[in-house]
Amino acid sequence: MGRVKPPDLCCLRCGGRLTETGEAVLCAACGMRWPVRNGIPVFSVDFPYWGEIDRARMIALNRRAGETGWRKAVAEIAPQLESYVGDSGRAAWSVVVPWNRGGAVLDLGAGLGGNAFPLSTEAGSIEALEAVYERAEFMDIRRRQEGAANLRVVAASVHDIPYPPNSFDLVVMNGMLEWAAIAVSGNPREAQKAVLKRNHDLLKSGGWIYIGIENRFGVDAFIGVRDHSGLRFTSLMPRRVADIYCRLRRGRSYRSETNRGGYRTYTYGFRGYRRLLEESGFTDIRIRGALSYNEPKIIYDLHTAAGFKLFLREAVPRSSKGRLFRRIALTGLNAAALRFFSPSFLIAARKS
Ligand SMILES: [Zn+2]
Repeated sequence: MGRVKPPDLCCLRCGGRLTETGEAVLCAACGMRWPVRNGIPVFSVDFPYWGEIDRARMIALNRRAGETGWRKAVAEIAPQLESYVGDSGRAAWSVVVPWNRGGAVLDLGAGLGGNAFPLSTEAGSIEALEAVYERAEFMDIRRRQEGAANLRVVAASVHDIPYPPNSFDLVVMNGMLEWAAIAVSGNPREAQKAVLKRNHDLLKSGGWIYIGIENRFGVDAFIGVRDHSGLRFTSLMPRRVADIYCRLRRGRSYRSETNRGGYRTYTYGFRGYRRLLEESGFTDIRIRGALSYNEPKIIYDLHTAAGFKLFLREAVPRSSKGRLFRRIALTGLNAAALRFFSPSFLIAARKS
């Protein structure tokens, strides 16, 4: 892809243009400034650590990545994250979003770069935003080692995104929207909607948002796979019941020190996501199914029997019990049931 000029950073307070020195980004208009650490602008200065591995291990990972290369360091220090971080198939969902290839991309909650790096090969420019500094630092080490010249790493939270409106052709929220209310107060759905509305503003006209996320009513929730709360069945409960339950079980729920208590990681069903996106200003909402949005190897249509059959072929273990289940399911269920029970959704929606 040809290189394009990335969107300018703008002031979180006044929207003014920021200028970057080696040590800080400065707003000439209002005087605000944010630090630059190891080349990374840091807007999320007080954001607490959060991650798949604890902070000490994350710091060790970054140190080792600098010494031996990021891929070797992951294999050594966090082998359980090898495919999560380094499998280029993580961004296979890109084929179902009709975004303007070669355009400007914003990856929100970019984590360790599992999506941002494969996407950078299709993008003109990509801004990888991650609120946790240590995670941003890992991406920046990888960026330097891979020579990904069109990718910029910025430490910023999803609630304070330092770009002007109409900047992006694609905004990515992969495994992000469900966490959007965790560090803020107020109604979680309203907090999620505020983030979506802000993203709508950040998109150019005709730009797309992509959301990879669990289904509130996914089949795994019914069989007792833990919800984002760290507890079982909470997505299936009425919100108020889940909220009380999470407060009672406090200390066991969530991995994050940013948690304000109660149930805040709302997910939705097929129609719930449509409504949320419509209310946030999006049109042309397209929802596909996947066994896991994090490894979107199996993507299926939610409106045809063909997609459903593919789903069953892949989802059911090849044991005799599994085959029996599949036979029962193939005769007894339909695409409507699949929309209801699909474990994950891959959602694309457009700004008109
Ligand atoms: Zn300013």
